[in-house]
Amino acid sequence: MALKTPLEYVDSLRRLKIRAYVGGEMVDNVVDHPLVAPHINTVAKTYELAHDPEHRDVMTAISHLSGERIHRYTHIFQNPDDLVKKIQMLRLLGQTTGTCFQRCVGLDALNAAYAVSYEIDQAKGTDYHQRFTKYLEYVQREDLMLAGAMTDPKGHRAKKPSQQADPDQFVHVVEQRPDGVVIRGAKVHNTGGINSHEVLVLPGTGLAPGEEEFAIACAVPADAEGVLFVFGRQSNDSRKLEGSWDIGNTRFGVVGGEAMVVFDDVFVPNERVFMNGEVEHCGTLVNYFATWHRANYGGCKGGNADVLIGATAKMTRILGTDRNAIVKDKLIEMIHRNETTYASAIGSSALGYQLPCGSYMVDPILANTVKQNITRNVYEIGRISHDLAGGFLATMPDAASFEHPEVAQWVRKYYGANPEYDVTERIRVGRYIENMTSVTTMVEAMHGAGSPQAQRIVMLGLADLEGKVKLADEVIYGTDDVPGLALPPVNEPPSSDGSDL
Ligand code: SF4
Ligand code: FE
Repeated sequence: MALKTPLEYVDSLRRLKIRAYVGGEMVDNVVDHPLVAPHINTVAKTYELAHDPEHRDVMTAISHLSGERIHRYTHIFQNPDDLVKKIQMLRLLGQTTGTCFQRCVGLDALNAAYAVSYEIDQAKGTDYHQRFTKYLEYVQREDLMLAGAMTDPKGHRAKKPSQQADPDQFVHVVEQRPDGVVIRGAKVHNTGGINSHEVLVLPGTGLAPGEEEFAIACAVPADAEGVLFVFGRQSNDSRKLEGSWDIGNTRFGVVGGEAMVVFDDVFVPNERVFMNGEVEHCGTLVNYFATWHRANYGGCKGGNADVLIGATAKMTRILGTDRNAIVKDKLIEMIHRNETTYASAIGSSALGYQLPCGSYMVDPILANTVKQNITRNVYEIGRISHDLAGGFLATMPDAASFEHPEVAQWVRKYYGANPEYDVTERIRVGRYIENMTSVTTMVEAMHGAGSPQAQRIVMLGLADLEGKVKLADEVIYGTDDVPGLALPPVNEPPSSDGSDL
């Protein structure tokens, strides 16, 4: 069963005994909770489109392990074309759902663990890669949804994992056993964790000698003993309980349904442990994961923005402003910003290079530039959408007003615009724009896959400023020209001994 259907995904989730808390209550089954269901519905699209012949090339791949067709969300990147197709898949899914479809964190975590387990084995003669490959075969065969769990709570930000007053602020091994390890701690911002089959735990930061207990990479079933999830709140989430046409995005979530996942002394058998104490490899692992994931945003946010641009363009028709040249120019600006980040994501993928294990990594400086631009362009695209839709986004009446015996006539009369559209369409599209440009969406674009400063540090490190200074020197001072060309002679500048200043 290498490709699950959406129904099989939901049924398989239903069979798990996931311990989840939503709104302060323990949930019997996540599948049946109205605040979780939209996120499950979003992930179900990733399963559905893999069965669509039109999207097969983008949504599926051939496993390098089994030779079978598998979901691209369980695939190890074999060449730059795989990296490009992943970005295309993300844009397609973003266009289809208008939100975060969650499975990419697990995919990038799979690829990071695959690559680094190989490198540890090469350096230390361990057998992590063999273990991981077996686990990967299982994930591919069952088409599992994995939640990549990277971000530790971190406690006091000026202190390292080993210096925290509370040692559980970073996931760590509290007991080494002959048959496995016991882990304790938590991971936060865990995208899709509450509706995943498995949680792939990776260190969230580089570590130094003396911090071996924190250098743990392992796979834990989402319903393992000692695992529990606390679901986060999103902007406007309780609106989903209203069952109204007036809530914006009714069918899918706003961002990824993030949760905190707690590991309250969870036993992990050796065959699911892929790093255990190798601190010197943690930086590489975090770096690999972050680089892949930063490129992603040009795809997924590109698809999300396609939906927002569409909603904004529709709003200009509803308002009757769509023929105005300035309005058109603002829509062009939205498109321009969106395609720029998408182009960078495709570019970073096309320039991918091979890692020691044989899989492929995106071009790092381009990938970081994608995410840096996302932290601005998602805001700017939202700003233009607000600009074009108008102030009523913040003041429009609710659905109940349109059903009220007295006021319905007034809200119909005074919120109407272009008579080709019913007034409720203005509210419905406006509510979508309001909902999908709300705080949660913006913050996710800012901090998902790493906060902006994290990208800037990497960019400076990779930019080779010294090399660029040499380039400038060569162009300004160079004399390496074609002999015999009638280039104008250049005088030497005056001496700088101070006498000519
Ligand atoms: Fe995938 Fe984008 Fe969601 Fe990350 S934010 S999991 S890349 S859809
Ligand atoms: Fe994200």
